Amino acid sequence: ILFDFVEFIEVLVEEVQGVKKNGQTIDVINSRSRIEVGLDTKLLRHIVHNLLSNAIKYSEEHKPITLKIDTKDDKLFIEVADRGIGIPAEDQDYLFQRFYRAKNATNFQGTGLGLNIVRQYTLLMNGTISFRSQLGQGTTFIVELPLNLLTNEKNTAY
Ligand code: ATP
Ligand code: MG
Repeated sequence: ILFDFVEFIEVLVEEVQGVKKNGQTIDVINSRSRIEVGLDTKLLRHIVHNLLSNAIKYSEEHKPITLKIDTKDDKLFIEVADRGIGIPAEDQDYLFQRFYRAKNATNFQGTGLGLNIVRQYTLLMNGTISFRSQLGQGTTFIVELPLNLLTNEKNTAY
């Protein structure tokens, strides 16, 4: 079933407004009025919700968060950027492992499962996930998902 991803994101961002810390903002950056997608809404919701929750949790008050969505070459891009605590370089290789938490995250509640699930869901949709982060500066997660249904069929047919 096709739906408008732009509207989907607006609703989701509205839902997480309540859990933001004082003065945090979530800016949606999007140059398209509609993005028709046929992706699994349960998986998508989980992915975006988890990344936004992390951005909120690992940023101090009054820090801006941006959620950028775009498409290019039959791919959907979801980018969540924060100006939070960042991820120490020595922890970055292990971030998607179950229960792994970076050294500087211990003051914040968490189990270390969120990103592992986000990655699994991304892979289920034949997508990729990556990030870049600088300690004390911020973190950006990028999820790329193929939009072309034929591509998805091809990948599962063999
Ligand atoms: P939960 O299972 O409740 O999500 P968690 O947030 O600790 O717990 P993950 O979401 O899997 O677990 O993230 C794993 C680790 O990656 C975190 O503990 C934290 O060290 C680091 N991390 C994830 N997102 C960010 C971010 N936006 N900024 C800084 N560190 C992050
Ligand atoms: Mg988390």
